[in-house]
Amino acid sequence: MPAMPTRHTLVIVGGGAAGLTVAASLKRARPELDIALIEPAQFHYYQPAWTLVGGGSYRIDATRRPMASLIPKGVRHVAAAVAGFDPVAKQVLLADGQRIGYQALVVAAGLQLDWHKIEGLADTLGTNGVSSNYRYDLAPYTWQCIEGLRGGTALFTQPAMPIKCAGAPQKALYLAADQFRRAGVTVQSHFYTPGAAMFGVPFYAQALDKVVAHYDIAAHFGHQLVAVDGPGRTATFEVGPDKQRVTQGFDFLHVVPPQSAPEFIRQSPLADASGWMAVDKHTLQSTLHPDIFGLGDCTTTPNSKTAAAVRAQVPVVVANVLRQLLGSGNEARYDGYASCPLTTSRGKIMLAEFCYDGVVTPSFPLDPRVPRRSYWALKKHYLPQLYWQMLRGKLGLDWHAPRTFPAAVPAITP
Ligand code: FAD
Repeated sequence: MPAMPTRHTLVIVGGGAAGLTVAASLKRARPELDIALIEPAQFHYYQPAWTLVGGGSYRIDATRRPMASLIPKGVRHVAAAVAGFDPVAKQVLLADGQRIGYQALVVAAGLQLDWHKIEGLADTLGTNGVSSNYRYDLAPYTWQCIEGLRGGTALFTQPAMPIKCAGAPQKALYLAADQFRRAGVTVQSHFYTPGAAMFGVPFYAQALDKVVAHYDIAAHFGHQLVAVDGPGRTATFEVGPDKQRVTQGFDFLHVVPPQSAPEFIRQSPLADASGWMAVDKHTLQSTLHPDIFGLGDCTTTPNSKTAAAVRAQVPVVVANVLRQLLGSGNEARYDGYASCPLTTSRGKIMLAEFCYDGVVTPSFPLDPRVPRRSYWALKKHYLPQLYWQMLRGKLGLDWHAPRTFPAAVPAITP
């Protein structure tokens, strides 16, 4: 007879920003709660600083900590990968065939990077001037290439949405353009996106148009990267609805890969037709199984996939999981908050904060379209500390609020 599966009151899938913070927050609220966290990775990464690493402003080793050091006390760490879900039996299936039962389940498995969807890319990443800030091992190479460029053409690509940190592709662009100016080298920078604007929220997109103009960047909308020839130093794009192919030579190429829901979620009964885990966008409860909740990058919620969103989602999941387990307490609701600190140069940031439907919700009563030095200090020194505290269940204050500003874009000095 097969062994009886182990069972926990709460099982959390994924020990990233979302999973660790939910586990730690719940342990703070209810130390007696029986929690298992399933996470196969040996290390946890502070991904938001990889942009700064690629801009020569942060040490890569400071973005990584051993997973074991971050698992909250009293939480059982299952160092294994989840392969599927059996919501009827209330069990999670592990890759080694074991099953773990739950009373309530939280899914926080992030998203997958689809490097293979761009022909030739995997073979050349990290060589031939092709890099990406989306990988721990590659972000330092971004800076090596940018710092070493003595002239020519630099390309920066963005894939179709949704991706994690939608602003990250252009953060790399501005930090590079700024460096080329500082170094006095003549490099033509190009930005390629399948989208029709620099940013999904028009309020910020209009201000970013001014940053693009400031650096004489050539912005190409409706362009999707489909192939890279590293040794030949060319990138090929499909353009517009008829997908005509155009090829552009480069001396440096920064690629942000296409992204999708993790395969084991896509194939599971928790996903909708899009492949992402289907949750109510306010309560973060599964729309299919009421004892399951999801947060972070892996769900269908139409917010910008960021650690800032995770920070706002965790209290909602904590309250609603406890409500589900204990049968009491008020329902909590997520407003779609996300934040994107857009590095417009080395030393200044445009702090884009917004909620569902593009409602502008800055934390500070200052026009958020103006790039500021204080926000650079916030991003480089303060947010990393807040992040590591957040993983311990110390969420800090959250005072974002809808505020109105003049329609005219203010003067922008990146
Ligand atoms: P992750 O933190 O990615 O964690 C997912 C976890 O799930 C991982 O530990 C993984 O190992 C685990 N997992 C995967 N598969 C399985 C499985 N089968 N079984 C069990 N566990 C599994 N956010 C901001 O707020 N501000 C920024 O400035 C910012 N900049 C960014 C820049 C870059 C270059 C990148 C890459 C990201 C950036 N982000 C930023 C986004 C932010 O890092 C993510 O949105 C955040 O980490 C999402 O948290 P998560 O827990 O959903 O996913």
